[in-house]
Amino acid sequence: MSYDTVKKKLDNGKLVILDGAMGSELEKNGAQMDKDLWCGTSSIKFPEIVKKVHEDYINAGVDVITTNTYASTPISMRNYGYEEFIEDYNKKSVLIAKKAVEDSKKDIAIAGSVSASGSFYKLGIKKMIPGFNEQLKILTDEGVDLIILEAMSSQADIVQAMIECSTKINMPVWLSVSCVIDDSTNKVMLGYNDSMDAPPEVYENFEKSLVKFSKLHKGPILIAHSNINVTGRAIKIVKKNFNGVVGAYPNVGFYKKPNWIYEDNMRPEDYLKEAKSWVKNGSQIIGGCCGIGPNLIKSLSKLKL
Ligand SMILES: [Zn+2]
Repeated sequence: MSYDTVKKKLDNGKLVILDGAMGSELEKNGAQMDKDLWCGTSSIKFPEIVKKVHEDYINAGVDVITTNTYASTPISMRNYGYEEFIEDYNKKSVLIAKKAVEDSKKDIAIAGSVSASGSFYKLGIKKMIPGFNEQLKILTDEGVDLIILEAMSSQADIVQAMIECSTKINMPVWLSVSCVIDDSTNKVMLGYNDSMDAPPEVYENFEKSLVKFSKLHKGPILIAHSNINVTGRAIKIVKKNFNGVVGAYPNVGFYKKPNWIYEDNMRPEDYLKEAKSWVKNGSQIIGGCCGIGPNLIKSLSKLKL
């Protein structure tokens, strides 16, 4: 476990394959989702299933796996009465990922997912910052190889706050954000759309927010948890405005609390075709988010040939 191999690949213009969804895969494998913390409780309640999902991705040929910590944010855990378990849940998630890598005997990097899940905007940014710092500290202390700020579905000011917190740690940091097309203007916006029942949440102009983010964030920027139809356009915007590494891990399907609904039947050959176009447009990191499982991730290994 280390970031060296991934760094070498990125420095040499090669492709890095990231894993796919955690939450929706855990569900598929029989882990019961928590009504408040979604898959945030799985590392404690279903550690074997969490390990199996990591192993499925390792067997599918990924270079990087991501800890099951997206939903176990200190802010969310505090809010739902899990305060005393914040460290336990996050540490256990890293340990499971480490064990999966060790057992595989492969050179796989572990990304610690630090997210804004359950950030409850009503709290105000100031109250969220300690939570971001706390999760960053637990995951880096526990020995992940890189941090991925999964700022997806977040508004620009929250993304900005997460970036600022991440500049204080001594570790490679990737940033992922969500995009959505604003139907009224056809512009690519920072925002997301993952509910069958509600219109998309549209925040600010994506290009403008990106210019702000890239002032402080120099590591890779990835388009994540976004519909496939906006991903290609968003990648082009990142390439135009940012000198660093670009990547993508979109999703398929919809969220209906507390479950992910697989409504799309994306075939591996279709996902590969989409991924090829993202690579052609300059993406160097490709993976998948909600609804994208090991079979689709496996199709990406053809991109490496
Ligand atoms: Zn997702």
